[in-house]
Amino acid sequence: MTELPVRVVAAIAQARQQQDDPLAMFIYDLAALQQHIRQVMEALPDGAELYYAIKANSEPQILQTLAPWVDGFEISSGGEIERLQAAGSDKPFVFSGPGKLDSDLRAALRRQAAAIHVESLNEIDRLQRLAREQGRVQTVLIRINPQLPAQISSRLAMAGTATPFGIDEADLAVAVHRVDNADHLVLQGFHVHAMSHQQSEQRHRQLMEYYLQRWPQWKALSAQQEGITHLNVGGGIGVDYLSTSQFDWPGFCHWLGELLAVTAGAPRLRFEPGRFISAFCGYYAIEILDQKTSHGKHFLVCRGGTHQFRLPVAQGHDHPIIHLPQRSDGAGELCAWTVVGQLCTPKDVLSRDCSLKGVAIGDMLVLPLAGAYGYNISHADFLCHPRPCQLFLPLETASWA
Ligand SMILES: *Cc1c(COP(=O)(O)O)cnc(C)c1O
Repeated sequence: MTELPVRVVAAIAQARQQQDDPLAMFIYDLAALQQHIRQVMEALPDGAELYYAIKANSEPQILQTLAPWVDGFEISSGGEIERLQAAGSDKPFVFSGPGKLDSDLRAALRRQAAAIHVESLNEIDRLQRLAREQGRVQTVLIRINPQLPAQISSRLAMAGTATPFGIDEADLAVAVHRVDNADHLVLQGFHVHAMSHQQSEQRHRQLMEYYLQRWPQWKALSAQQEGITHLNVGGGIGVDYLSTSQFDWPGFCHWLGELLAVTAGAPRLRFEPGRFISAFCGYYAIEILDQKTSHGKHFLVCRGGTHQFRLPVAQGHDHPIIHLPQRSDGAGELCAWTVVGQLCTPKDVLSRDCSLKGVAIGDMLVLPLAGAYGYNISHADFLCHPRPCQLFLPLETASWA
């Protein structure tokens, strides 16, 4: 993780030359993204497919790079349907999320969503009415909030506890019955997105085993079981921001392939990760504006901050930092720095007590793993700083977005 790709370093150098003010920018290495998604897709076992959850990063260049490789996209708003369209994707998409508007649902029906994940009894009724208005029959998955055994919960549980997502397993029979009786809806299966930040393959395996064990019972609730073929097991594969070891996706997929092969009547499994797909290709590069010591703590004040890259504060971690000397030679004393941005709030901290050697004003700091839930979850207009440039490095040469 301490190694920066040469093309990223070169892009930063070029951007510095083209700008008078100190630099803050995002760089996305599309070649690395392509290589990663190839490996992720190649590892998938027979009987499983993968849709990219675009809320992690829905920039057109990201979607265009992923589109040839993924089976489809997962979206959660009408705006995200437009993003897909703007990117020119003709890949299938599925639509989840609480609080879908009628206008969102109409757009999804018109654009022939591969599945709409219904999240409440009211939504089933509403979708039936809207589908009838358009004279369409829509494929749906019922999103389940399952009763999860305690040992398979994780840092942020999206299910297995009180949440606004999906339909409680206790109410599933009623929901299935209602879809069965809706003549403009066809039940194709179930959707469970229970986890975020899952870093343990072991626990993710337990989760899959649990879903597959529940599957026949969920399916048996329907009077029309032949059409019930799909189990969307959500996203939530974690990224370890603090070490170099990552979720062993190939190992997990290998295990899953063996499990599916011996599971009678196994559903078609659909994954919809976001973070694990786009996180690794992104970098946030910031220039050091000032250094100071206050009450015994050493601060590096940098261009940009948490209004452009909220991820570290959102997750409460100290983001890894790579020092890119420009004015200094990178020699000198090791010092523990707290890296902050330009905002007038003590919360504008990107990393605390980060050990760096010989830093100087004008040097660059680069925050890797910034490609998912980075810029797009940030409050970029706070304090009216200009928005940072987002640079997408394509396979051959760099181009400005
Ligand atoms: C956010 C979300 C995802 C993607 O989650 P990641 O943690 O980024 O993998 C997938 N499915 C649903 C329904 C989501 O809300």
